[in-house]
Amino acid sequence: MSHWVHIKHSIDQATLHRDRCLEVPFNPTTPDYWGGGWFEYSNKEAAQEALEQSGATRQFKCPLCKP
Ligand SMILES: [Zn+2]
Repeated sequence: MSHWVHIKHSIDQATLHRDRCLEVPFNPTTPDYWGGGWFEYSNKEAAQEALEQSGATRQFKCPLCKP
């Protein structure tokens, strides 16, 4: 199962999601480094690492899908 990291640099926040979470857009826009965006990872370990390395001060796990 893939996982997603949603990075919002504008509010200094990153969130980890499972695949198929309702929060994950059907057709995510292309992420860009400065603005952030949705990044897909093939496993939870990679996504967790990306979350920790995102540089965002606030790092969350989605309360809906509980990754
Ligand atoms: Zn979620």
